[in-house]
Amino acid sequence: MHITTIASPSHEYVIRVRDAEAGLVGFIAIHSTQLGPAAGGLRMRNYETEDAALNDVLRLSHGMTFKNAAAGLPLGGGKAVIIGDPGTKTPAMLTAFAQAIDRLKGRYWTAEDMGMTPEDMAVLARVTPYVAGLPDGDFASGDPSPITAQGIFNAIRCTAKHRFGTSDLTGRRVAVQGLGHVGWHLARLLRSAGAALVVADIDTDRAAEAGAFFGAEIVPVAAILKAEADILAPCAIGGILNAATIPDLNVRVVAGGANNQLATPADGDRLHARGILYAPDYVANAGGIINVATEILRISDRPAFVTRKLAQAEATLQAILSEAAARNVAPHRMADETVLAQMRVKAA
Ligand code: NAD
Repeated sequence: MHITTIASPSHEYVIRVRDAEAGLVGFIAIHSTQLGPAAGGLRMRNYETEDAALNDVLRLSHGMTFKNAAAGLPLGGGKAVIIGDPGTKTPAMLTAFAQAIDRLKGRYWTAEDMGMTPEDMAVLARVTPYVAGLPDGDFASGDPSPITAQGIFNAIRCTAKHRFGTSDLTGRRVAVQGLGHVGWHLARLLRSAGAALVVADIDTDRAAEAGAFFGAEIVPVAAILKAEADILAPCAIGGILNAATIPDLNVRVVAGGANNQLATPADGDRLHARGILYAPDYVANAGGIINVATEILRISDRPAFVTRKLAQAEATLQAILSEAAARNVAPHRMADETVLAQMRVKAA
């Protein structure tokens, strides 16, 4: 296995991991350990280039610093990616990657993200203890996505209250992009709350299944960001809110689970200028890391911790949206400002 350090002006430590025999190329990025060991999931997906994967891991790990800080967790920000179709994943690949994680000696803790399962985490855990989201064992927290979805659902209700004057979702039309682990659970919660769903997924079988299961309208992938609805819940990939897509949005609220929904901070300003209320992603989707944190921090009463932290995350979002409205600034700016102020206090 070859590990190469990549110099980064913005991150504490970044490595490229390659194991030719296992067919592995990936990256681990530690953005900050100021608040504690860096924690963030491992993602596997196809990237067009290695640079695209590196860019993703840098952005995602930066987001984890803000997410963990906003959730009041004693954890820093880190993330890892493996380049490739999750269908091509092998135990040898995971084992080699786990060796790279282990060499960081706990500066970075991993868990599942897109393309990974609790069973994959169990493979990593045979090699290194710095793995959470395990299916079983002491403090095992399992698949975080139902808790992530619960947090997003709370964020949608909170944001709806700000925009529409009521958090009641009965009859509200919600466009859900991506029906994977998070999107599916979220669709279930939205449906139970009486929302009408319009959905899209590049996996057309998955979209059809959601159509049948939730009575959802299915639209092509290219149409979901233009769908006429009250709320858009992005639950697939990052960067989907950008200069090209924002002018075509046909909603008044964006609140969803995907990480790094804004392609650039300027896109948050674009949403604000269009009068579309955006729930900052790292505040809305912290449920998963809150659940995972119980395993890293070895918290024995997980349900109580998760319930308390989810309520806190909702209160944080509520405060951010109120303050942003009072000052007429975009919520993503307000969220960053709030987190940076918290971190300054902690550092002092
Ligand atoms: P997943 O891989 O289970 O699901 C993603 C789904 O999106 C898949 O069904 C995929 O086919 C679909 N998809 C991919 N590209 C698409 C596109 N362009 N248009 C429509 N559909 C598309 O992943 P997940 O765990 O559900 O995570 C979804 C998002 O939420 C990711 O951005 C992830 O980083 C973020 N997130 C997940 C968690 C968690 O607990 N799993 C926590 C926080 C944030």
